[in-house]
Amino acid sequence: MSHLFELKLTEVVQALSNKEISSRELTQAYLDRIDKLEPELNVFITLDPDNALAQANFADIKRQEDPEETFLLGVPIAIKDVLAVKGLRATAGSKILESFIPPYDATVVERLRKAGMVIIGKTNTDEFAMGSSTENSAYGVTHNPWDTSRVPGGSSGGSAAAVAAQMTPIALGTDTGGSVRQPASFCGVTGLKPTYGRVSRYGLIAYGSSLDSVGVLGQDVEDVALIYNLINGRDTRDATSSQNPKDEINLNGNRTLQNVRVGVPDEYFRKGLQSEVETAVRDAIQTLETLGAEIHIIQLPHTQYAVPVYYLIAPAEASANLARFDGLRYGPRVDGGNLRDTYTQTRGQLFGRETKRRIMLGTYALSAGYQDAYYGKAQKVRTLIQGDFEKAFEKVDLIAAPVAPTTAFEIGAHQGDPLSMYLEDIYTLPANLAGVPGIAFPVGFDSRRLPIGMQLIGAHFKEQILMSVAHSYQSATDWHTKKPIL
Ligand code: GLN
Repeated sequence: MSHLFELKLTEVVQALSNKEISSRELTQAYLDRIDKLEPELNVFITLDPDNALAQANFADIKRQEDPEETFLLGVPIAIKDVLAVKGLRATAGSKILESFIPPYDATVVERLRKAGMVIIGKTNTDEFAMGSSTENSAYGVTHNPWDTSRVPGGSSGGSAAAVAAQMTPIALGTDTGGSVRQPASFCGVTGLKPTYGRVSRYGLIAYGSSLDSVGVLGQDVEDVALIYNLINGRDTRDATSSQNPKDEINLNGNRTLQNVRVGVPDEYFRKGLQSEVETAVRDAIQTLETLGAEIHIIQLPHTQYAVPVYYLIAPAEASANLARFDGLRYGPRVDGGNLRDTYTQTRGQLFGRETKRRIMLGTYALSAGYQDAYYGKAQKVRTLIQGDFEKAFEKVDLIAAPVAPTTAFEIGAHQGDPLSMYLEDIYTLPANLAGVPGIAFPVGFDSRRLPIGMQLIGAHFKEQILMSVAHSYQSATDWHTKKPIL
C-alpha cells in the first residue's frame, strides 16, 4: 500500500489502534486527496478542514491517555448535507438553506461524535434529496469518479463519489426511494438502507417522513456494518424510532449459504433493464447459489405501481415538510415588502425547479376534492406493495434484484424529462414503500467499465442475514475491491 487514503475502514481502525498511524496523518491524507480531486468531482458542499484536524489532534491525545478508547476514535467520515452537524452549515443542496447553521447535532452525528469520529465535511445531494443524479443540487453536479461525464447517482451522490474516490473511508447518506443504494451502485461501492425506524431521523432535514431512512456507504459490507452498529437503535427524539433492541451485526459467522432462500422477482427483470446489468446480476445470483443458497423465482405483482405510488406519497409529504421554509425561520430571505410576497419571492427564487415541481404535485395530491383520488388511493396501493413483500418473505429469506435499470448515465441525459428520471427508481422504491432494509453492492462492470450493482432486500429488522449474505458474496468475489483510476 502506497497511500494512507487507500486503506479501507477496518484497516484504518487497525492501523490507528496499532499506532502505525495517527489520526492527524490520516485526516491530512484525506484532506490532501480531497484538495486534489475536488475541482474535478465536486463532491463536497462544505468542507471543514480546520475543525477536522483539531478533532484528529484531540483523538490522538485521547488515544495516548486511554489506549482502551473506542476503536473508531479519530476515524474520518463524511456526512450527506441533509443531516444536522452542529455549527456546520446544512444546505440540503438548496439555496434556501445556503446560510443555515444547525444549532444541534442529528442523533446519528451525536453517536459518531461520541465514538470520536472526525467529521471532514458535508457531501453534495440533490436539493432536499429529491433526485437520482445529484443534478438537482444548487451547488453543481457531482461527477462520477469512474467517468466524469456521468452522474454519480443520487441523491446521496456526494457520499457515494467520496467513498469511490477514497476521499473518505466511509460516509452517511439517506434513502427515501433509493438514494443510498442507487448511487452506491453507480459508483461501485456498498450502501445500506436499514429498516424504517432502525436509525433515528432526528436532525435529518425531512423529505418524505414515512419513507426517509439514514444509511451508510462504504467500500464493503464489513466497513458499512461498523458504522451501522454505531448509529442504529432507539431514539426517543424520533417518534417513529423502533423499540427493538439495538442491532449488532456480526459477520464472523458461517460463510456458506446453506439454508438461505433467495427470491428472484420476475417483475424486476423485464423490459427497460440494460442487458449488461441483467447479465451481471444473474451471474451474482448464480454465485450465491454456488455458495449454497437456494434460488426461488418469486412474484411481487404490484411492482408496476411503485413509481406512481411513490411519486404521489413522497411529494405529498415533501409539500408538508417544506412548508417551514418560508424565508422567516431559516437561511436567506427575499423581501417582498409584505408577508405574502415575502413567502412567494423567497420560495419562488430560492427553491430549484424539481423541488417546486414536487411541492406543486404534492400539494395538488393533498388538496380538497383530490386527496381521496390521489393521496388516499396511493396509500391503499402502498399497502398492496407491502403485502407483496410479506407474502414473498413467507417463502424466502432475501430478495435479489438489480438496483437500477442502467449503469451511470451521462450528465444531462434526462434533462427536461422528469418522468424518464423517475422511472430510473423502479427497483429501489418498493423497499422504501414497504419499510424493509436493502443493501446494494458491486457485482460487475458494463462494456464502458461503469460499475453494476445488485441489491439484496430483507424482511423488516433482518439486517443481520442481509449483511451476512452480502458479506459472503464479497468474501468470494473481488468486484468491491476495484477502484476508479483518478
Ligand atoms: N430518486 C428518488 C426521488 O427523487 C429517491 C430519492 C431519495 O431516496 N432521497 O425522490
